[in-house]
Amino acid sequence: MTDLRSYIREIPDYPKPGILFRDITPLLADAEALNHAIEAMAAPFLDAGVEIVAAAEARGFIFGTPLAMKLGAGFVPIRKPGKLPFDLHSFAYELEYGTDELQIHVDGIRPGQKVLIVDDLLATGGTIEACLRLLEKCDAKIVGCSFLIHLEDLGGEARMEPYDIHAVLKYG
Ligand code: IMP
Repeated sequence: MTDLRSYIREIPDYPKPGILFRDITPLLADAEALNHAIEAMAAPFLDAGVEIVAAAEARGFIFGTPLAMKLGAGFVPIRKPGKLPFDLHSFAYELEYGTDELQIHVDGIRPGQKVLIVDDLLATGGTIEACLRLLEKCDAKIVGCSFLIHLEDLGGEARMEPYDIHAVLKYG
């Protein structure tokens, strides 16, 4: 059994003093750990009938596409302004290190399609809350959210109600 926690590098005071940054790049670089992480992120949703995996750039894309393939689903990107070429839904939000806006194509998801949201890490929940609001604008049926890491003391979970959260690694 791969100890995934041992592949997460902790960087104190990055990107600013007082922040303990969880660096996932050692996990990404190890074939066995990466495969194990994808399996563990997908496990609760194997029989959920997921039709679309949606994820926000950039690190959400790393996990979103292999999860979509694992679940037999398509992949829909959620991107920062200026990146998607067609008609858009937009949502502005606050994140741990500033503010930002995310967008999705209006026809990216058909009304009622079953969607799983994926990201590398849940911190304050701003990024995923923006994804949820965008998917609600698309009338998606959100089946849950899957993360590699949940930083439990940053309050992200409260912003995601009433949706189910799955996280492979939890840090209190
Ligand atoms: P949130 O919007 O505050 O939940 O922040 C989540 C987003 O910020 C994720 O997409 C992460 O990629 C990024 N992030 C925040 N903190 C960390 C960290 O400690 N390590 C890696 N990424 C982080």
